[in-house]
Amino acid sequence: MSHATASRHAWAEPGVEDLGGGVYRIPLPLPLEGLKAVNVYAITDPGGVDLIDAGIALVPAREQLTAGLRKIGYELGDVRNFFVTHIHIDHYSLAVELRRTFRSVISLGEQEHANLIATREMVNGSRNRFFGAEGLRRLGAMELVTQLSAHDRQPPALIDWEDPDRWLEDGTDLDLRTRTLRAVHTPGHTRGSLCFLVGKHLLSGDTLFPHGPGRTNSPADLKRIIGSITGRLFVLSDDTKVYPGHGDFTILGKEKEEFAVFSARSHDPGLCGDVLWLSS
Ligand SMILES: [Zn+2]
Repeated sequence: MSHATASRHAWAEPGVEDLGGGVYRIPLPLPLEGLKAVNVYAITDPGGVDLIDAGIALVPAREQLTAGLRKIGYELGDVRNFFVTHIHIDHYSLAVELRRTFRSVISLGEQEHANLIATREMVNGSRNRFFGAEGLRRLGAMELVTQLSAHDRQPPALIDWEDPDRWLEDGTDLDLRTRTLRAVHTPGHTRGSLCFLVGKHLLSGDTLFPHGPGRTNSPADLKRIIGSITGRLFVLSDDTKVYPGHGDFTILGKEKEEFAVFSARSHDPGLCGDVLWLSS
């Protein structure tokens, strides 16, 4: 492995990164070729811990979350809340599994309701008639289904699409005892995607990454995600630190600068998918 490759994937290495202010990043593994891990963020205080996103409901992810929490002095049973940025399997499903044992509370953006119902119908047998492969791909599950079946492993995460305990509205201020977490509705990657703001930390889910927006499935969705980023996130101060659902962090001011380059150029009206501010 070259040095460049090693450092490119360094963020996905198991462990815990201290982000300051009692916030920690715990990357959890994904069984995917391209996407190595998902970032779970722990917001801690002496009484317990609240997590932003949860990882995928597979044993290696659960083990790594357990190990990560122990490193900072907590057990799975200390998790009070899962605040989930969006309904994709790699962010949501482990929360549902852990809730059965530990009774943690799951919150999700209210606009994900329709996506959750559609996913449930799809996995309950109507997948060909109702959604097909396109539906699965849209929900972030297709690649996983393919790879899991290639490895002859059961995808337990696909079976359990239960409701969250709470649907979050845009602008909800969540009282975390020692601080406040604000839910910001940022549609585009999914209809009900949320970003969470705590102090100067923006936990951006799959909405904003270093050098570009999250993946979109249509030009309309790209328009939507750009509207979310410019209208809801770029209003925050330049020194806001952006912590995405996958990969390294970035600084909001840097993204504003790169976006200015993108918006000054003209683009193919069909542009969507994986977009980069400087090269798309
Ligand atoms: Zn996603």
